[in-house]
Amino acid sequence: MHNLDMTKSLLIAGGGIAGMAAGIATARAGWRATVFERAAEFSEVGAGVQLGPNVTRILQAWGLGDALCEVAAFPSGLHARSLQTGKVLATLPVKDAEAKYGAPYVTIHRADLHGLLLQAASDQGVVVQGDALVQRVTQGLDVAVLDVLVKGQMQPHTAALAVAADGVWSPLRQQLLGDGLPTFTGHIAYRALVAQADLPAHLRSHDINVWMGPQAHVVSYPVRGGEYLNVVCLAEGRLLDDDANNLQALQAWNAQKSELQTRTELKRALRGACTPLTDLMDACCDWRLWPLCGRPAMRGAHEHVQGRVVLVGDAAHPMLPYLAQGAGMAIEDAAELGAQLLNTSLSEVPASLQNFAQARWQRNARVQARAARNGRIFHASGPMRVGRDVGLRMMGASLMDLPWLYEYSGV
Ligand SMILES: Cc1cc2nc3c(=O)[nH]c(=O)nc-3n(C[C@H](O)[C@H](O)[C@H](O)COP(=O)(O)OP(=O)(O)OC[C@H]3O[C@@H](n4cnc5c(N)ncnc54)[C@H](O)[C@@H]3O)c2cc1C
Repeated sequence: MHNLDMTKSLLIAGGGIAGMAAGIATARAGWRATVFERAAEFSEVGAGVQLGPNVTRILQAWGLGDALCEVAAFPSGLHARSLQTGKVLATLPVKDAEAKYGAPYVTIHRADLHGLLLQAASDQGVVVQGDALVQRVTQGLDVAVLDVLVKGQMQPHTAALAVAADGVWSPLRQQLLGDGLPTFTGHIAYRALVAQADLPAHLRSHDINVWMGPQAHVVSYPVRGGEYLNVVCLAEGRLLDDDANNLQALQAWNAQKSELQTRTELKRALRGACTPLTDLMDACCDWRLWPLCGRPAMRGAHEHVQGRVVLVGDAAHPMLPYLAQGAGMAIEDAAELGAQLLNTSLSEVPASLQNFAQARWQRNARVQARAARNGRIFHASGPMRVGRDVGLRMMGASLMDLPWLYEYSGV
């Protein structure tokens, strides 16, 4: 039976950061949104995320500024350091973001960000259904249909449009664009979370630190209001050959190897690291692994919209985390979608979605490309590394500040 609803309603596949943000933005624009999430429960475990002023500006506009203050941390500087010496090469004073860009630069645990969005979505009347696996999307002349598997039963849901927010492995993208699966980038994230109280005083920090070494770097920053330190090592080429072709291994973020094996891999990746950094790595335990998979930068508006189906977040533009903007771009996508759907009649939906795609794809492609470029710079060795370090020492914050990114005001 088709659950046909010709009011201003839309269906969202995936209840991650992109799906929740899309629900909030479209509900604010007067649409009735239903989110289908395959997981029975929402458990955004794991790493933290940094959110630049381009993103916090949107969250503030959605009335989430106070909620953000309760759970986020507000670092004062982002320090780029040499992995070998630990010396600071340059500092971006992120505490100035508020004065310069009108919104703060924050660091936050993913679960806290997701919880905040989930609460806001339900406050806006977004229906969120867990244990609901979206299997297929089809389109009629003026509708989009999602086939959703719930408790072994297939339920077709129909609305004026559908949003594919089903992440980097997006089954809907594969169905719509037929451009195959994402590929392993050759980079792995090793993540740990440690209570600052459990660290010796010299390892505690309320800033963002990036230690750059050959083919690897480490990022640490405070989360949960500063109570915990999120520590991530990003290293190249550390997957076993078997795993590189094993889809299940690639999709299993949050995987865990033995403590001994992980420590051996980390030591190998960070050979030559300075003592404060090795001390920090030694103080962390319960490491989780995340093989990073991705796609080339977007090549056109068609990767964002196909008829009445719009792709947002990692489904549309997965990226290496080296610009710290993947979740940010998902939230920007949502804000733009809401803006385009505001005052849109049902017959205008395809045109509005095209406008959305035109407004977003080049920016997303630029951020994807810049993130990949940052990876090459962070992991440089030889003459490129020397050039990087000299450049950072001489030009400092002006190399790290990105007005084209942080000034975004698409809301
Ligand atoms: C190590 C690391 C550090 C990062 N740091 C940052 C950072 O500092 N700042 C930043 O902005 N970004 C960062 N990112 C990127 C950010 O985490 C992602 O870009 C963001 O989470 C993408 O959100 P999403 O909702 O598009 O995808 P996901 O979070 O993957 O959500 C997709 C959802 O869809 C669901 N789903 C999938 N298939 C189906 C289906 N068929 N039916 C129903 N549901 C389905 C999944 O269960 C999931 O809940 C980082 C990423 C990594 C790996």
